[in-house]
Amino acid sequence: MSYPIYLDNQATTPLDPIVLDSMMPYFNEKFGNAASSHHIYGQDAKQAVECSRNEISKVLNAKPREIIFTSGATEAVNLGIKGVVEQNENTGCHIITQETEHKAVLDTYISLEKKGVKISILPVGSDGLLDPDSVKNEITNNTVLVSVMHANNEIGTVQSIKEIGLICRDKGVLFLVDSCQSFGKLDIDVKDMNINLLAATGHKIYGPKGIGFLYVSQKDPNIKLKMQIDGGGHERGFRSGTLPVSQIVGLGKALQISEKEKKKENKRLKILRDKLYYAILDSHPDVILNGSFDRRLPHNLNLCFPGLSAENIIMKMRGVACSTGSACSSANLKPSHVIKAIGRDNELAHSAIRFSLGRFNLEPEIDKAIIIINNAINLLKEQKNNRSKTII
Ligand SMILES: *Cc1c(COP(=O)(O)O)cnc(C)c1O
Repeated sequence: MSYPIYLDNQATTPLDPIVLDSMMPYFNEKFGNAASSHHIYGQDAKQAVECSRNEISKVLNAKPREIIFTSGATEAVNLGIKGVVEQNENTGCHIITQETEHKAVLDTYISLEKKGVKISILPVGSDGLLDPDSVKNEITNNTVLVSVMHANNEIGTVQSIKEIGLICRDKGVLFLVDSCQSFGKLDIDVKDMNINLLAATGHKIYGPKGIGFLYVSQKDPNIKLKMQIDGGGHERGFRSGTLPVSQIVGLGKALQISEKEKKKENKRLKILRDKLYYAILDSHPDVILNGSFDRRLPHNLNLCFPGLSAENIIMKMRGVACSTGSACSSANLKPSHVIKAIGRDNELAHSAIRFSLGRFNLEPEIDKAIIIINNAINLLKEQKNNRSKTII
């Protein structure tokens, strides 16, 4: 059996072989603990970690000391949100977010809500976009934090981060951005966009799993966070635990490659994504695009197939690996909260499929995927027609 064509790059990306090569020495001869400052083993490790930290801060227009390594974006988001709330020891405080956030963010808010924090979850438009004015109107004297993701993991919608950041700055409210899907892909400037806290992860940019970071502004404003993992006070007291040097090196290398390639790569992926979209649309004019077409990541395609179920489509489409809803919620059969949030009813939401392209998808693969997808849809439509004929 040959492996299916991988069109699920927003769930995770394969590790770039160049990234793997950069990590290998840190599993072998350069095994030192970055906190061991008295010998060459520790010094080499520390230098590699700082090199990666520099790379990240440079890309974001931040300072190296504002980057805190974590086990991934889920931890980074938890640290940023709970860290702010618990630092203020302010249970009556108010936070604003939007309906289409990742579960890592929404579930963190659910746990805070149980502790008495007030959470406003703003709706998005049918295009998936959040209206910055709705954020402005929701801010009260008790609001301490606004969190809005940069690009959506299911429908690829790119939010007006700079506009929302400006509103937050004017109102003196902290602004946290989950940038997992845009980091290394779109331009991010934390100063220009007035972002105070930002989370991202290695495994969405062809880097390793199990490594991410939180950017925490240390000047205008100087943010203090309540530590979530107690221990030796690593990462300037923000996050304890021996640093996974090999993972950190991989993250830095992955970012370096992504930044160098992103302009060319975004253009290439958009052409392939559009080819896929129009080829499906040509054969099946009833498909419905989820999310704005223009304000969208170039590698994301999310479609509803009216009258069909995404589970059945995926079973028929064995040659293509993709997602129904997001990877994290496909374990249960509840329709995606993102597709529901843009106004699709339950039945349509159950027909949504995400195709997400990436660095290692070449045109012949997309051509092959088009045939597999269109054939699967044809077959299912035929079966459905035959069934309704027998019922009559
Ligand atoms: C992948 C992802 C996360 C979770 O990141 P991990 O590093 O896997 O914990 C959070 N938010 C978004 C938007 C994501 O795409």
